[in-house]
Amino acid sequence: MKTIDEQGYHFEEWLTPQEIAQDVAQVADRISKDYQEKEPLFVVVLNGAFVFAADLIRALKDIRCEVTFIRVSSYWGMSSTGKLEFIVPLQQVVDNRDVVIVEDIVDTGLTIHQLKAHLRGLGAASIRVATMLFKPRKLEYDDAKPDYIGREITDEFVIGYGLDFDGFERNLDAIYKVKE
Ligand code: 5GP
Repeated sequence: MKTIDEQGYHFEEWLTPQEIAQDVAQVADRISKDYQEKEPLFVVVLNGAFVFAADLIRALKDIRCEVTFIRVSSYWGMSSTGKLEFIVPLQQVVDNRDVVIVEDIVDTGLTIHQLKAHLRGLGAASIRVATMLFKPRKLEYDDAKPDYIGREITDEFVIGYGLDFDGFERNLDAIYKVKE
């Protein structure tokens, strides 16, 4: 069992790179089918989603699409601040576009809830959400339920594959769960 120790916390490998790749392929297949006739704009939520997004967009089949980025911050260490800050705003016109938000993990749903409202206000024609991980038991906002989910997870804190611990460990190729 691979383990990581970070700032006094002990993490154990939960998803191997191979398992992650299978989850990503499954999400990419569904998106490829649903957007066959469209030209979606993928809005990647930085920082955490950059690894998932890089794998996801390359696994799409026969899709003409654009990719852009937005950077928000709502989380510090292992507890949420409950506030969303737009650190890097959208550079792309979303008016009349079919938008797919790409997230690393949906937890309370606050980020997606606020981001959807933001994109609706900018005139997006449709908005769906693709996330590598989803914590359904933590969800507080109905409209933040993701449309495409790599894998569901219970409430534990995870790191790796883009997900950080205070900025570190994003480069791990597997996903690790904290052990109490
Ligand atoms: P939400 O707004 O849905 O409550 O939180 C979404 C953000 O919180 C994610 O994009 C991620 O940055 C952070 N987050 C939530 N759960 C975890 C977790 O288990 N591990 C890490 N590293 N970040 C998390």
